[in-house]
Amino acid sequence: MEIRVLPLSEEQKKTKYTDESQLGFGKLFTDRMLVAEWRAGQGWIDARIEPYAPFLLDPACMVFHYAQEIFEGLKAYCWEDGSIALFRPEMNARRFNRSATRMCMPEVPEELFLDGIDRLVSLEREWIPSSPGTSLYIRPTMIAVEPMLGVKPSDHFYFYVILSPVGAYYAAGFKPVNILVEDKYVRAVPGGTGEVKTGANYAASLKAGLEAKTKGYDQVLWLDGVERRFIEEVGAMNMFFAYGDKIITAPLGGTILPGITRQSVLLLALELGYMMEERQIDVDELMADIRTGKVTEAFGSGTAAVITPVGKLCYKDECIQIGEGGVGTITQKLYDTLTGIQTGKLTDSFGWVRKVA
Ligand SMILES: *Cc1c(COP(=O)(O)O)cnc(C)c1O
Repeated sequence: MEIRVLPLSEEQKKTKYTDESQLGFGKLFTDRMLVAEWRAGQGWIDARIEPYAPFLLDPACMVFHYAQEIFEGLKAYCWEDGSIALFRPEMNARRFNRSATRMCMPEVPEELFLDGIDRLVSLEREWIPSSPGTSLYIRPTMIAVEPMLGVKPSDHFYFYVILSPVGAYYAAGFKPVNILVEDKYVRAVPGGTGEVKTGANYAASLKAGLEAKTKGYDQVLWLDGVERRFIEEVGAMNMFFAYGDKIITAPLGGTILPGITRQSVLLLALELGYMMEERQIDVDELMADIRTGKVTEAFGSGTAAVITPVGKLCYKDECIQIGEGGVGTITQKLYDTLTGIQTGKLTDSFGWVRKVA
């Protein structure tokens, strides 16, 4: 599919950031975006890279009323030699299409997804920061734009990709987070949309997050929605617990987002000589194992925060420190290895990196 590149005038160019240490996350966007449309009976049409600008949308558009929306998140890294690399973008393309199917949206041809990102990132390369820990965050999105208040799948969609230069998540070094195990609200139930990257999951989770923040916690850890007993995941991160050399994580059972970082951690940890187990984790047992010191480390994994150490886990008025409360050896090792591969400092023996033209 042909992707047209529309001109970008001088006045459409934004003032670039000057201080990479002030970037933060997702506040600033580059000069251009990729847009394609899908219409029933026509399929994908009019793929183009155009100046970044607001959409003009009818207030009746279905996305505003019934949340027919999906998204992805991946990063482009600027290597020391000036080349640009993406990390496993095919995985995002496939997951995006699984999300699309679940939400009754059209699949985006993998070629459009991958080539579109490639060309957009390449055009916007001067926006990619290069200091340690920084990257270009890529946000593919699809929204239902048919103006119609009846409940049914839309017959018109926008697929678009925007880019945001982002700062180092740990500008001042690793900071272990304190996490509250949520026992009132639930995020997902079997048969629902827990494994789908859709905005509605996030809207439904805001209240729990806000209440946890008010109490001084950084994030919430979700339990399964049926028994409220088994560990699922945190906000936008999958969770891992180390028992010495053995690392456990919850299995993907339809209610957990299948993280690409999660899957990469599973493979990397094995290569680094750790034992990995995907199994149900009972919250009471986990708390008991933290109390007795059997759990030596805990960390979360996700594209935005890479690997995040957990300092304390809190459940029903009890807060327990994990290990020394700092950054564990395994956590550090996985962070170094993963970011080493992403930034070209370590050999990519898995073939995970895809260079941008
Ligand atoms: C995106 C996301 C993750 C992390 O997935 P990655 O592919 O590793 O970035 C985890 N949980 C939720 C709910 C997410 O939306």
